[in-house]
Amino acid sequence: MTSTTDRTPPATDHVWSVAEHLEDVLGRIRPLEPIELPLLDAQGCVLVDAVPVPAALPPFDNSSMDGYAVRVADVAAAGQEYPAVLTVVGDVAAGSADLPVVGPGQAARIMTGAPLPPGAEAVVPVEWTDGGTGQGPADAMRAHSAHPEGSGGEVRVLRPVTERLHVRARGSDVRAGELALEAGTRLGPPQIALLAALGLGTVRVRPRPRVVVMSTGSELVQPGEGLGPGQIHDSNSYQLTAAARDAGAIAYRVGAVADDAHTLRAALEDQLVRADVLVTSGGVSVGAYDVVKEALSDLGEDDEGLSWVDFRRLAMQPGKPQGFGLVGPDRTPLLALPGNPVSAYVSFELFVRPVIRTLMGREDVHRPRVAARCTEAVPSSPAGKRQFLRASYDAEAGTVAPLGGSGSHLVAALARADALMVVAEDATQVAVGEEVEVVLLG
Ligand code: AMP
Ligand code: MG
Repeated sequence: MTSTTDRTPPATDHVWSVAEHLEDVLGRIRPLEPIELPLLDAQGCVLVDAVPVPAALPPFDNSSMDGYAVRVADVAAAGQEYPAVLTVVGDVAAGSADLPVVGPGQAARIMTGAPLPPGAEAVVPVEWTDGGTGQGPADAMRAHSAHPEGSGGEVRVLRPVTERLHVRARGSDVRAGELALEAGTRLGPPQIALLAALGLGTVRVRPRPRVVVMSTGSELVQPGEGLGPGQIHDSNSYQLTAAARDAGAIAYRVGAVADDAHTLRAALEDQLVRADVLVTSGGVSVGAYDVVKEALSDLGEDDEGLSWVDFRRLAMQPGKPQGFGLVGPDRTPLLALPGNPVSAYVSFELFVRPVIRTLMGREDVHRPRVAARCTEAVPSSPAGKRQFLRASYDAEAGTVAPLGGSGSHLVAALARADALMVVAEDATQVAVGEEVEVVLLG
């Protein structure tokens, strides 16, 4: 169960503010139950529990350089003129388990990441030696990488080292029992790297919600197919699926469903099994073919297990008609968005994205908002409605400019926008230079 189920008594003539509707929707959404996921499947998800460090990192003292593991006293007097001459007793590569013991007057050739052999106290980088060649450091470096077998000969060390120089100590990254990651951390690449380094193959997170997107309209044709008279391409199912993914969801796009209440209802019931959220577009106004409304508005507690969907008028533009409810045996949230592409998009950003992120347990539920000065006048804006204009935001100048007018069919302008400019309910125009609220679309 992801949602509280009690229904707000529908007051048919009530016009909901954007804030009221959002509060009602989010008030019924609970984060998804955590599950154990393989690390890469948990990318972008939120940790439910703090992760303690099971064992020290690094797990053993090891070399941070290619060079020679030595005892400090043996090279204390080393210099260019009077190098310390040490007997090379072995070769330690990364992954070596069988380590030579380094006694007085001895050294072991060692590679980056290889365990520090017993007896050794520091690593002399190969550049500070002759690499066992009897020549200078340049030859030393060539020889170091060329000879797989470094033991048996001698090495001349040209500089002294301090204790533990070029040694990465066991536990210097994290110690056993320390906190690796805090509860609530979102797993990005570095966090996944840490979990992998700690040897954890799976992690408990809140999963990505599965969002099923369905568009409605008998006029809709899938992209890639030709248009007949009066037909248009179904852009909403693509837009909303992409937006759901962008918000962090696993999104399933069901193509367009014809304007037929039975078909739509059957299609929705089919999808319930794989949905944490259902999103539809179109069919929510008051026209003759407003099929979503027809199919879902009289649900009640019906014998098919569907529960309720309210259809509301919001004091916003675009996006006035909205449907919201909890359907099916799991009371899956359903958001029925208006069909005009810009209306659908704005509605998604304002309502569906926060639902997805709440389900994921994320803190950053909403798009960031800033104040900016408007560089172009908006001569008229509907009174009593919060208007969301597609806009271009200039962060450096702190300004915003509306793009392409308020028509909710204008998808080209939407494709150029990186922000929504908000014109408040009580404003009927915006003057040049006036400060407005801006929703950054990222
Ligand atoms: P509706 O809300 O179903 O009346 O749709 C409002 C407007 O949006 C109509 O012009 C529809 O043709 C258009 N529309 C609805 N669904 C889509 C869609 N999936 N893709 C593009 N336009 C759509
Ligand atoms: Mg329609």
